Amino acid sequence: MSDDAEPRIGVFVCHCGHNIAGTVDVVSVAEMAQDLPYVVYSTDDMFMCADSGQQLIKDKVAEHNLNRVVVASCSPRMHEPTFRRVVEEAGLNRYLFEQVNLREHVSWCHMREPEAATEKAKDLVRMSVARAAKLESLPIKSVSVTPRTLVVGGGVTGMHTALDIADRGFDVVLVEREPDLGGHVKKWHSLYPTGRSGEEIVDELSERILKHKRIKVYTNSEVVGFDGYIGNFEVTIKNKDTNKEEKLDIGTAVIATGFKSFKPEGYYGYDWSPDIVTLAELEEMKTDGDLKRPSDGRPVKKIAMIGCVGSREPDTKGHEHCSRYCCTAVANTASQLRDELDEVVILYQDIRTYGKNHEEIHRQSRGKHVIYSKFPTDEKPVVHYKDGQITITWTDVLSGDRLEFFPDMVVLASAMLPAEGTQEVAKLFSLTRSPDGFFNPEHIKLAPLTTHTAGVMIAGTAQAAKGASESIVDASGAAAKAVALMARGEVEIESTVSHVIEDLCSSCHTCVSACPYGAIAIDQTKEPAVAKVTEAKCHGCGTCAAACPSGAIIMRHSTDEQILTMVEAYLCPEQLVEGGAK
Ligand SMILES: Cc1cc2nc3c(=O)[nH]c(=O)nc-3n(C[C@H](O)[C@H](O)[C@H](O)COP(=O)(O)OP(=O)(O)OC[C@H]3O[C@@H](n4cnc5c(N)ncnc54)[C@H](O)[C@@H]3O)c2cc1C
Repeated sequence: MSDDAEPRIGVFVCHCGHNIAGTVDVVSVAEMAQDLPYVVYSTDDMFMCADSGQQLIKDKVAEHNLNRVVVASCSPRMHEPTFRRVVEEAGLNRYLFEQVNLREHVSWCHMREPEAATEKAKDLVRMSVARAAKLESLPIKSVSVTPRTLVVGGGVTGMHTALDIADRGFDVVLVEREPDLGGHVKKWHSLYPTGRSGEEIVDELSERILKHKRIKVYTNSEVVGFDGYIGNFEVTIKNKDTNKEEKLDIGTAVIATGFKSFKPEGYYGYDWSPDIVTLAELEEMKTDGDLKRPSDGRPVKKIAMIGCVGSREPDTKGHEHCSRYCCTAVANTASQLRDELDEVVILYQDIRTYGKNHEEIHRQSRGKHVIYSKFPTDEKPVVHYKDGQITITWTDVLSGDRLEFFPDMVVLASAMLPAEGTQEVAKLFSLTRSPDGFFNPEHIKLAPLTTHTAGVMIAGTAQAAKGASESIVDASGAAAKAVALMARGEVEIESTVSHVIEDLCSSCHTCVSACPYGAIAIDQTKEPAVAKVTEAKCHGCGTCAAACPSGAIIMRHSTDEQILTMVEAYLCPEQLVEGGAK
């Protein structure tokens, strides 16, 4: 169907159960839309995203010969791909679809003002109908995908990612900055929930990796260059010993750079005494023999362990999050120590042993008479260290009593923080970071492993604090995403990108420096030189179009005409006539 045909618009207003209809009078919104220019069909429905709602759209497109579809429902982030697919299945170009967000932008934020919310919903639908009349079909484009993945970070996450991808028949380049693979796990003596030694786990994985003909490992190496776009990246890897650089073509990348343990300086006397250590440091001290005090070599008989050290601190930037591994790791270590020591006391804010078989570890430690005592969140235990003697005092929440304990050592379960160099990696791969400093996924709920750089995934503790089993789940998920892209051999790219009108371009470079994705360069092969967009790198953000002093850049699917039509439809609703707001 040609775009020149007169628009025939269908409007579908979604109740989203009670989510939208509980606040917005959706029936009156659909009735209002019925009288707008070019609208030939308008209705409301309980769930537009459900199979029945999707079928309704397809049926009405056929019945009324619709050539534009407007769905007023939830955020396009949630269901734009669903509805684009539906209109395609109905025989229309996917860009002849327009979504209005009546849930996040109306019903959820104006819950207590139903009448005003309904008026706002009508405004938004009217604006989107006006825009829909101006929509144009866009071509569906794809690019090829190089069948090789870059995995950055050789901890358990990176190693599992590499093996999952390679076992499916694709090449992997695994880059680790340390001399050996394994990350933190290789230091842990007995990992919950299985009790296996970290070294044993890492040795097994390393052996499989080093023998795998599809995995090439670069240790003592870092990525120093990353350029290109989904399916077609060029990576530069530098060996830290030789300073030699190697360039490779890759199609996808998984960032698995892990975490660093918080050094709790200023917490619980950590800086005053060698007998006050973190859980990670205790792991490194453990030997098969008796545990000895670092200060004087005396055998340790009594230990206190303190949870949430540098985690769950609402007022401290970068320390607000729960580090998730610590409750179970503390219970696990306490259980083992209790076999050797006279007393093990755990001071905690809350116990969050949420993973599979984790609660059993917690219960087992209590069964071994590890003593648990909850301290108030706003009144932390006080640690004193004098003449080699440690004293801890705190208030036990359950009894309300003020308690005292004289341990030989104190073990602090310190927070997981983003790995050293996270900021540089973020810059290199154009990744964003959340307030806690870990890499941001594309969407925390709907796309937790992909990022805003198409073709680049994140996994494991590079994404957020978590234990090894959750990190390995991430690894398999990220590997599956990479394999899915490579198995197809090509990937569709968005057509809602910027476009340079060459005759108007003065080659001033403004767009080149304005583009946050490095998607524009000056094409010197043209005479005169003009700006050129690499469409696969363009995110359609519109920054270049706004910055261009010559008006030489248009945004496909968000042209000036399409945007101004919406403004006019909002400001001058009475002037809406067929053919556009006049
Ligand atoms: C004290 C302690 C005890 C724990 N005990 C347990 C337990 O018993 N059970 C459990 O399930 N979990 C446990 N955990 C959690 C577990 O250690 C992590 O979940 C796991 O290490 C995450 O693996 P990872 O590969 O994501 O990160 P990491 O182990 O941190 O590995 C990341 C790797 O990436 C490399 N790297 C970083 N940046 C770069 C770069 N720019 N270029 C190249 N390479 C880079 C690092 O050198 C490292 O090798 C514990 C954590 C702590 C702190």
